[in-house]
Amino acid sequence: RKITIAIDGFSSTGKSTVAKKLAAELGYVYVDTGAMYRAVTLYALNNDIIGDSGCNKRAMKKHLPEIKLHFEFNEKLGYAEIYLNGKNVEKEIRMLRVSSFVSPIAAIKEVRVKLVEIQQEMGKNKGIVMDGRDIGTVVFPDAELKLFLTASAETRAHRRYKELLDRGDEVSYEQVLKNVTDRDYIDSHRENSPLVKAEDAIEIDNSDMGLEEQFERIYGYALR
Ligand code: C5P
Repeated sequence: RKITIAIDGFSSTGKSTVAKKLAAELGYVYVDTGAMYRAVTLYALNNDIIGDSGCNKRAMKKHLPEIKLHFEFNEKLGYAEIYLNGKNVEKEIRMLRVSSFVSPIAAIKEVRVKLVEIQQEMGKNKGIVMDGRDIGTVVFPDAELKLFLTASAETRAHRRYKELLDRGDEVSYEQVLKNVTDRDYIDSHRENSPLVKAEDAIEIDNSDMGLEEQFERIYGYALR
């Protein structure tokens, strides 16, 4: 019996790592919803809709119909990569510049309505692992398994910092820590679908947990 697995939590709690592994083990489809908000943000940056001088919400809403997103499975990587208007943007959307502007974009109601609709369509058949901030609360409130991952801000910033350096993004640890805590604040306090743990989600603090240990535990829940 295939199920729907919703993985939510704060920034850089390792949601995507565990979600990808879970999907691979179970033969499920993995969907990274953060990548979708990031791709919309990249579009907004490229079209001067958002920048250091602020966000033009009206322009964002006007441009929404022009934004086409799709995922393509990459055999070599073992997961699907995101395309923005036909272009693979998987790498670009991970840059700290995109991370710095994504939360205000994700707070816009019309953006969320558009992306939630795509996500619900992608998950209409069971056998899906989706990670994000509102999967267990809004996208799939009936998911059979809901997880909510947490870890201390410092642990998360260290993980993300290492990842960004490995990718060649020139950033400081302090910048990354600020980005992680700023995003958590905006994501948790926005009016539309704020980041909260679903009542029936299982909370896992992985600050002092190895990847293997965490995976075994979650895999166990998925097989129950
Ligand atoms: O998961 P990731 O860190 O890539 O997500 C980037 C941002 O996208 C989050 O900080 C949040 O603002 C937004 N997001 C969201 N709802 C989701 C997934 C991501 O608001 N389901």
